[in-house]
Amino acid sequence: MLQFKGYRTSVARNGREAIELARQEPPDLVLLDVMMPEVDGLAVCRIFKQDPRLKDVRILMLTAKSGREDVVVALEAGAADYVTKPFFFDELDARIRTNLEVKRYHDDLAAMLRISQAVSSSLDSDEVLFTIVSELGAVVKSDRVSLIKVIDERTGILIATREEPEMRNQELSLEEYPEILKAAYERRVVLIDDTDNDPLLADVTERIPGRKSVLIVPLDVHKELGEYVLLSSREHRPYTRPEIRFAQVVASAAANGLANAALYEQAAVDNQRLSTLANTDDLTGLYNHRHFYQRLEDEFKRAERYNSDLGLILLDLDHFKNVNDTFGHQRGDAVLKELASVLVRTIRETDLVARYGGEEFAVLLPETGMAGAFRQAERMRREVKAHYFEALQGKPLTISCGVACMPFGSEDFTSPEHRQDALIAWADQALYTAKRGGRDRSITSEARQSAE
Ligand code: GH3
Ligand code: MG
Ligand code: MG
Repeated sequence: MLQFKGYRTSVARNGREAIELARQEPPDLVLLDVMMPEVDGLAVCRIFKQDPRLKDVRILMLTAKSGREDVVVALEAGAADYVTKPFFFDELDARIRTNLEVKRYHDDLAAMLRISQAVSSSLDSDEVLFTIVSELGAVVKSDRVSLIKVIDERTGILIATREEPEMRNQELSLEEYPEILKAAYERRVVLIDDTDNDPLLADVTERIPGRKSVLIVPLDVHKELGEYVLLSSREHRPYTRPEIRFAQVVASAAANGLANAALYEQAAVDNQRLSTLANTDDLTGLYNHRHFYQRLEDEFKRAERYNSDLGLILLDLDHFKNVNDTFGHQRGDAVLKELASVLVRTIRETDLVARYGGEEFAVLLPETGMAGAFRQAERMRREVKAHYFEALQGKPLTISCGVACMPFGSEDFTSPEHRQDALIAWADQALYTAKRGGRDRSITSEARQSAE
């Protein structure tokens, strides 16, 4: 009788068979006798409720017992409903229908919950979009579910496909898909019950093998993000109203997911820009003092941990006051800019050059001992001296460098907390010595010690 009504059914002759059958393919609903040989109905019911794959199956108890207590026991065992024997088929049919409807709402809600969890917990837009198409496909039984971005009237991008998770960001020629264009540009649901007999598809029926039903739901996202549609299709079996409604709810979750991902990506770009701004010196584009100090701390720790060298050069322009006095402050600025590019040119990629103060610069040299740091200082000094400064109309410019290196091997600096300050102090004192010695030279902290 149920088959005649259009239900797909299978029959088990006892409790054990019922469990085996259900485990092979979980049904939506079970009609279950209470009194059965071997495993009785109540026990079967309890086994269903403990199995994660079967716990949501609706169980209708079919029983000759009609005492109130029997009913309570059945419901407590996990039955959703019961019908007493003898029964009228109409009543049984009505109860089956209501229970299947409840089950559908339950499944929809569970899927929505999983989607909203994915949307709110993951910032990986690929993952969110894939969850969306796969959940839609799980509830609205389809052969194929995809999310498509419409670029223009000819081009689309297949963002995610449930049936082929690895297929992503593939180009799609939309000239073949008038139904997608219609949904995207008219911003409404397009429903095709039968692809063989729909005027919209009259010119493209060759594209579609077999007779199919198609459902396309546009996503309501901000125009800046573009036009997106969710598309599902299956062997000819028209989509029902509840299925369409569910697809619309999923589409709105997908729209939120896309908007979140876009916001997050924008925020990441903004953060990157802000942190670049915060670390950069406006005039020269070099790192600023703040960033230099941060990196010094990091490099210091690394050098200590791996017992490697760390070199530091502080350099100061010679008689820069004269430059300002002769050419003006603005030209002075231009000189600083030009100097920055000369310095950047002479260092390795792993080195760091920063504007340490007004016309003072610091160069941090990881994995570099005193000899190497001194060579680097001298290279910079020679390059600067040889450079033709536009802003100075060829008038030469010189610098003085103070060079220090860790490990110091000195008892001067025993306080472990401020050892990077000590490194700077050593370089600074060496620089001072270079100035006093006549400028245009590099002095190491070792040479300073032996000189004094
Ligand atoms: P020396 O270092 O050889 O002892 O002589 P100096 O004339 O360079 O002396 P000092 O380093 O003490 O002077 C720094 C001068 O650099 C003071 C200031 O006018 C100039 N200065 C500092 N920052 C800037 C800047 O951002 N732009 C310009 N144009 N000048 C600056
Ligand atoms: Mg100076
Ligand atoms: Mg100075």
